[in-house]
Amino acid sequence: MYPPKFGYVRVASLEDAVKVLEADENAKILAGGQSLMPMLKLRLIRPSYLIDINRVPNLSYINIEGDKIRIGGALVRHHQVEINRELWKIYPALPETAIQIGDPQIRNLGGTMAGSLAHADPAADWPATLIALRASVRILGPSGTREVPVEDFITGPFTTVLGRGEVISEIVIPRLGGTVKSSYVKLERKAGDFAVVGVAVMLKLSPPDGSVEDAGIGITAAGGPRPFRAREAEKALIGRKPTDDVIEDAAERAMKESSPISDIRGGSAEYKRAMVKVMTRRAIKNALSR
Ligand SMILES: Cc1cc2nc3c(=O)[nH]c(=O)nc-3n(C[C@H](O)[C@H](O)[C@H](O)COP(=O)(O)OP(=O)(O)OC[C@H]3O[C@@H](n4cnc5c(N)ncnc54)[C@H](O)[C@@H]3O)c2cc1C
Repeated sequence: MYPPKFGYVRVASLEDAVKVLEADENAKILAGGQSLMPMLKLRLIRPSYLIDINRVPNLSYINIEGDKIRIGGALVRHHQVEINRELWKIYPALPETAIQIGDPQIRNLGGTMAGSLAHADPAADWPATLIALRASVRILGPSGTREVPVEDFITGPFTTVLGRGEVISEIVIPRLGGTVKSSYVKLERKAGDFAVVGVAVMLKLSPPDGSVEDAGIGITAAGGPRPFRAREAEKALIGRKPTDDVIEDAAERAMKESSPISDIRGGSAEYKRAMVKVMTRRAIKNALSR
């Protein structure tokens, strides 16, 4: 199907994008276009203008400085995360998420982390990992910048806290010191598909006995309308040695916290709940094995 008619404006800065968005609430940012173009072609959206940010300079950096990893501005493609050697060392869950998104074309040519968060598909991969890593979204708007934890950023299916004139300018991930392990595992029907269930885990271990000092667990496609943080599962791990029994307890709690819906793509809610337990156990063990 052909998309409806729309105007096109290419901006030179994110500030200019904010001005256009503020003046016209039906305008939309065009980043990688990997979600926007299909929505246009299916006529699910009818924007007045597409605001192309692809020629804005300095929007695709991954800066690792001190206790923060800054991913931004708004054009860091999935592939950039996938090939970043430092991220494989610090938080393997990040590149591990990137390599499981769509196919190589989606990851190389278009899709951005910021675009994925703004689009807020309930089965998207990035939110799970960014929730587990306690990341925040930096938002630029008409009255300046603000930062919102990823956990609170997505409010429902395809809805976020972004207000009129606001854009994502950066994703900020705190870097914990000491021994930190992480992993993202995804159950998909076939390679390149959206998640049936996706679970990301971050574990900070304390020496000398290796008990869990801090834990983050983010789950996608199984929280009802949005990705969620499995707080009870995290509590089951914190302060304990991650033995098989403790891991089992955490996986069981994650399952109880989940509220997936039945659909023809991923299966029944009952099946997905069972898979939350399996994938949480797998993500914890995978992280610990590193
Ligand atoms: C065949 C296919 C398979 C896919 N498989 C997966 C998968 O397995 N897992 C997964 O997670 N995703 C998957 N995706 C989605 C993919 O990751 C998209 O790249 C991503 O969801 C959107 O990023 P984008 O840069 O392409 O955004 P766009 O398509 O350009 O934009 C998406 C939306 O976000 C808004 N937007 C973009 N950037 C900003 C910004 N900086 N500030 C405010 N709003 C902004 C746009 O206005 C638009 O509403 C798939 C897509 C396709 C087409």
